[in-house]
Amino acid sequence: MTPREIVNRRLRRWVALLFVGFGAFAAGPVVASQILSDNDPKFVLFMLPGVALIIGVSIYTMFAGVKCPYCNGNLAPLALFWPSWRGRPCLPARYKFCPCCARSFDQVIERPV
Ligand SMILES: [Zn+2]
Repeated sequence: MTPREIVNRRLRRWVALLFVGFGAFAAGPVVASQILSDNDPKFVLFMLPGVALIIGVSIYTMFAGVKCPYCNGNLAPLALFWPSWRGRPCLPARYKFCPCCARSFDQVIERPV
C-alpha cells in the first residue's frame, strides 16, 4: 500500500461523512414536517444535528483528518483542493512528495501506519 492510497482512503472517509451531514441537514425539515404542526419554528432544531456534523467534520478534516502516514504532517491544504479531484476525492496526482518530510507518496510501504 502506498502513502497516497492511505491518504486517499482517509480523505474519502471524511468526505463521505460530510455528505452524510448534508443528508441529515436536508432530512431534518422533512422529518419535522411529519412530527410538528405547520409553521412550528421548532423545525430548526431538527436541522441542528446535520449542521453540527458538517461543521465538526469540516473542522476536524482541515486540522487533523488528512495526515502524512510518515510524519503526521497535515495534508488537508493539498488534498481538499477539490478541482483536482477528477470525480473522487484524492490527493492530486501532480503532488509526488510530502511537503513536510519530502518522502514519496508512491513508494510502497510494508506496514501501513
Ligand atoms: Zn510527511
